[in-house]
Amino acid sequence: MREIFLCKYGEMMLKGANRSSFEALLSNELKYRLGGIGHGKFTVRKGQSVMYIEPAPGYEPTDAEYSAAYGIAMTTFGIAAVCRSAATGHDFEKIASLTVSYLGERLRAARTFKVEARRADKRFPMHSADINAELGARILGAFPSLRVDVHDPDVTVRCDIRENFAYVGADKVRAAGGMPVGSNGRAMLLLSGGIDSPVAGWMMAKRGVKLDAVYFETPPYTGIQAKEKVIALARILSRWNGSLRLYSVSLTEIEEQIAKHCSEEYFTLLLRRYMMRAAERLAVAGGCGALITGESLGQVASQTMEALKVTGSAVSVPVFRPCIGLDKEEIIGTARKIGSYETSVLPYEDCCVLFTPRHPKTRPKLADVEAEEAKLGGLTADSAADAAEVTRIGYFDHISVN
Ligand code: ATP
Ligand code: MG
Repeated sequence: MREIFLCKYGEMMLKGANRSSFEALLSNELKYRLGGIGHGKFTVRKGQSVMYIEPAPGYEPTDAEYSAAYGIAMTTFGIAAVCRSAATGHDFEKIASLTVSYLGERLRAARTFKVEARRADKRFPMHSADINAELGARILGAFPSLRVDVHDPDVTVRCDIRENFAYVGADKVRAAGGMPVGSNGRAMLLLSGGIDSPVAGWMMAKRGVKLDAVYFETPPYTGIQAKEKVIALARILSRWNGSLRLYSVSLTEIEEQIAKHCSEEYFTLLLRRYMMRAAERLAVAGGCGALITGESLGQVASQTMEALKVTGSAVSVPVFRPCIGLDKEEIIGTARKIGSYETSVLPYEDCCVLFTPRHPKTRPKLADVEAEEAKLGGLTADSAADAAEVTRIGYFDHISVN
């Protein structure tokens, strides 16, 4: 059976002047991703408020290829819902027989159904209400044990009459939503091995931000396993965000200087400020307009309002903290949904755990923190940032179709 995926746009697609550039971004992103299944096997076509993913003329995809294409449609931001459908011409008889054969399995297993027809192409001679009634009658004729239930049916049969083709399908499945990647600029995610920062990155990616990521390590106190965990998390993000650059920055020297010269209650905050500065330097060099962290208000001592002011004021680029108002349970819920949770809870520690003061300052004053910093004799994050090691995390690294 020849299938086609109707991909409905999210909110931003409705927004006037930007619409065509959003559409172009989305279409290019889909084409790029579908290229991983095999060049020219699937095509992307623009309709009215919808993008079609369909097999190239004359090409018959395997089931695995259809599933891979469907997976791509479901993980591409800018697509609000996907309806897997089969297509035929503008001919009611063909539409009726296609409905019975394509949706036969679903309808046989159901008790109730309804038809929801939409006629976007007014050249088709029947009105939506007539299609609903006629197609409903044909379905009842083919599956006599079914009943119509317009309020809460087991199956909703969708019939979309669009330019030149009619599409029939059953479920409109909610997809990733959001805006196409790159439609809202580029930002640098501070990616630790924890639960929160991958979720923060995903949330901003969903809003159309193209991510780069930076990971801070303190060899030999932190090991290769912690780093591999962060690389694995970056791979998970790339599934949604496309390829990204992952910078690894060693903070060992800075951490040692802080430990040597400053008072313990400020350790975490001071280190955080150096992280922010190094991240900002890499961000500016790499064309990123903002930083993203996984901070959530009040979660730990370094995430009180006062502490956030202290860390935020180390840099002048905007700092996005999309988890700020979320409960841990909500963050975990998203982590599970995007597939990062299992990796995040692996036990390998990132640098801060080895550096946690017994009594951290929860209401730090910026002046006091700056006084502590003055003990470091003008130490900057520049050389640490400039020595960053870059790993390119490719979108296609995780894909296998066979
Ligand atoms: P996460 O679960 O994301 O690790 P967390 O609750 O453990 O967050 P903190 O350790 O206080 O919180 O870190 C707050 C934020 O600072 C993180 O969400 C992340 O954005 C950034 N961060 C902390 N440690 C690192 C690190 N080693 N490398 C990169 N970013 C880091
Ligand atoms: Mg952490």
